Amino acid sequence: SRVVDPARENDEQIVEAALRPKRLADFPGQPRVRDQLDLVLRAARQRGTAPDHILLSGPPGLGKTTLAMIVAAELEQPIRVTSGPAIQHAGDLAAILSSLAEHEVLFLDEIHRMSRAAEEMLYLAMEDFRVDIIVGKGPGATAIPLELPPFTVVGATTRDGLLPAPLRDRFGFTGRLDFYDPADLARILRRSAGLLAVQIDDDAVVEIAGRSRGTPRIANRLLRRVRDWAQVHGDGRIDRGAAAAALDLFDVDPVGLDRLDRAVLDALCRKYGGGPVGITTLAVAVGEEPDTVETVAEPYLVRQGFLERTARGRTALRAAWTHLGLIPPHTAIG
Ligand code: ATP
Repeated sequence: SRVVDPARENDEQIVEAALRPKRLADFPGQPRVRDQLDLVLRAARQRGTAPDHILLSGPPGLGKTTLAMIVAAELEQPIRVTSGPAIQHAGDLAAILSSLAEHEVLFLDEIHRMSRAAEEMLYLAMEDFRVDIIVGKGPGATAIPLELPPFTVVGATTRDGLLPAPLRDRFGFTGRLDFYDPADLARILRRSAGLLAVQIDDDAVVEIAGRSRGTPRIANRLLRRVRDWAQVHGDGRIDRGAAAAALDLFDVDPVGLDRLDRAVLDALCRKYGGGPVGITTLAVAVGEEPDTVETVAEPYLVRQGFLERTARGRTALRAAWTHLGLIPPHTAIG
């Protein structure tokens, strides 16, 4: 990997792409998913076939797109990238499918947001490598089957629970990505620091890793803000003091909670007495869509032991109260 071109560093997408590990062996963290993928890809390569379709699920920023690119690189095949919301009509999907090369990888991000008609076309294409092109309208319409070469779909979703069962069943392998532990985030940060040509002390790496919300995308972003701080206020080298000062300046919580996480806990404890409260009510209280609260904020809050999902709604655990500097009511659990 080459050092990121400083002239292009102000473009978030370019930096993200440059910091992406390119091969499975360079991908830190997610050991289980990595081993599983390694097996699936090796076996397909040995047989000279396209592997089964692959579904990657998990909260944003954990590496689904990165892994999809790695799948193509390991198979030495081209990759076509699109997303559920971009495919509004079945015809959009038909155009993509009918132009795929043999063994090409088709990456479908946010696959749970595809239209119904496109979803149905995708089932058939994934299973039988065929699409039915509908010609004409009404009773005179005819379906002309079009054979497709074998290809592999890599689907990514933040909500695998939302995928209809027939679609989920067509994936031969599902990799569930989980939040990274601080040691893996530290490896990611060291690697990114190398690519960005920044010098960083070990205890600064630990400080940033602990406040990155278990998410590589956030770790990389914080690294760049800390680098700004060290450049403006020091000699460019990142030590623990620089890391802590920069993270405080950007309101990064000591345990990595962001604005939305804190707003959710705040509403839950202060407004609703710790719950239980329904997701829609909670989302209105923080001015967000229920889907955002559920997919972006909640998984980390649950994982960190701040919040519990119950049949009656969301409940604040003891740690949520103390984190906000409040005294937990005697009914609080956890
Ligand atoms: P979203 O669902 O929001 O699209 P995602 O799960 O697809 O997110 P990616 O786009 O793959 O996430 O990763 C976000 C950023 O984090 C990228 O810049 C990538 O370089 C970095 N990243 C993700 N996983 C890793 C990892 N295991 N090692 C190093 N960097 C990683």
